[in-house]
Amino acid sequence: MVLDNLGGRITNALRRMTNATVIDADTLKECLNDIARALLEADVNVRAVQTLRKNVTRRVNLEELAAGVNKRKLIQRAVFDELCAMLDPGTTPAELKKGRPNVVMFVGLQGNGKTTSCVKYAYHHQRRGWKAALVCADTFRAGAFDQLKQNATKAKVPFYGSYSETDPVRIALDGVQRFKTEGYDLIIVDTSGRHKQEAALFAEMKQMEQVLEPNDIIFVMDSSIGQAAHDQAVAFKQSVKVGSVIITKLDGHAKGGGALSAVSATESPITFIGTGEHIDEFEPFKPEAFVGRLLGMGDVSGLVKSIKEAGLHENVEMYKRITEGVFTLRDMYDQFDSLSKLGPLNKVMGMIPGMSEMMKGTSTADGNARFKRFQHIMDSMTVEEMENPKINFSPSRIERIARGSGRHPREVDELLFEYKRFSKLVGKVGKMSKKNMNVNQMTRNASQTFEQFMDPQMMARMGGQVGMQRMMRELAKGGLGM
Ligand code: GDP
Ligand code: MG
Repeated sequence: MVLDNLGGRITNALRRMTNATVIDADTLKECLNDIARALLEADVNVRAVQTLRKNVTRRVNLEELAAGVNKRKLIQRAVFDELCAMLDPGTTPAELKKGRPNVVMFVGLQGNGKTTSCVKYAYHHQRRGWKAALVCADTFRAGAFDQLKQNATKAKVPFYGSYSETDPVRIALDGVQRFKTEGYDLIIVDTSGRHKQEAALFAEMKQMEQVLEPNDIIFVMDSSIGQAAHDQAVAFKQSVKVGSVIITKLDGHAKGGGALSAVSATESPITFIGTGEHIDEFEPFKPEAFVGRLLGMGDVSGLVKSIKEAGLHENVEMYKRITEGVFTLRDMYDQFDSLSKLGPLNKVMGMIPGMSEMMKGTSTADGNARFKRFQHIMDSMTVEEMENPKINFSPSRIERIARGSGRHPREVDELLFEYKRFSKLVGKVGKMSKKNMNVNQMTRNASQTFEQFMDPQMMARMGGQVGMQRMMRELAKGGLGM
């Protein structure tokens, strides 16, 4: 909770700087002080914070800047880059080589996603030509072996475990031995966790490390643990040789601010992130996307890429209208269609600034089902209703649409509510685009338009998602707060 505020606090500091009438050395210093304070309170290592401050100040040498340089953008960019650099501990993850038995041990507190991540990690590597196998050395949690067995079977990864043996080290050793003799080159050992950091857990881990001599020890951390991240990471690092970090549950609301302190505490790189319960909701870690998310900018580069891959940018008409601030129910319909082409919806929605709100508390499957329902409702609407952004729906009309689509009128209301919220947002973005660029030029190249439309700096200037929602409220009251 506190930590997830980290992104918000940094964004606010940047926003205050952006809103200042003059940007001089004092404005910059104040902005950096705020950012430094937020980072230090999140237990990011003092040295790392000093480096950020020093590097930004050096890059943004205000006295020597040529006239006309956009200082605000320059500062934002520098802070963004330095936060990315902060996620790079300067060490590389242990190198694993195919064709020899590599042993990787997963550690972390109970419930943080070790078992899930072990299987995802095995699956990820298996698909890339590794001969992967899983060993369940968790004798602490009831049903641990069954859980691993089930997941491993689904992933078609061989596994080893025991229902009778109570010594986890014994099981680990037996399992690793067996897979070594069978010629596996990636042997993954899932270990016990505890609810809290406690001596028994660390003793067991240390013993396991000594006996197995793993090539890498991966510390698994839940992105939402907040302020505890630093202490937890330190505790694990002090007991065993943590070599890399996996951050889980980044599909939720947690922005993962704790990751910065985990990297700082373990001096180990984040290698993967978990973005859902499913086996393929696992991806290599990308600092830029992560910092974008932290600051509420959305994963802009990822989004633009996905949009290009899905050919969405070819929908010139739609983006022309969006950049002009017009958004109809038909656009929303098309948007749902296109979005489902882009892959896991939650992930895509998370990338679109302002959209993730709409996906709050829903899984990918739920989200997709919800959009399908919305589409069915829209199928019962008239062309006029779909294409006139100023249309009003009377209660009796809503009733009729509900009946026509076999849904409850409440769901029609819900759809209209989402539509209104989103079209307002589009209107806002449209205004911004017009202010910032030539409309004719924009329409000539829709792909380019979209990139500008989702310009990270522009988003940051609007204060990210949070700022944008605030602005919309201000707008509704009649005054634009910028
Ligand atoms: P362990 O006790 O550390 O082994 O944790 P588990 O692997 O059993 O995971 C605990 C819970 O978190 C399970 O319900 C998992 O499905 C869930 N989980 C793990 N990783 C993720 C993730 O990336 N996203 C989401 N949404 N859930 C996850
Ligand atoms: Mg487990």
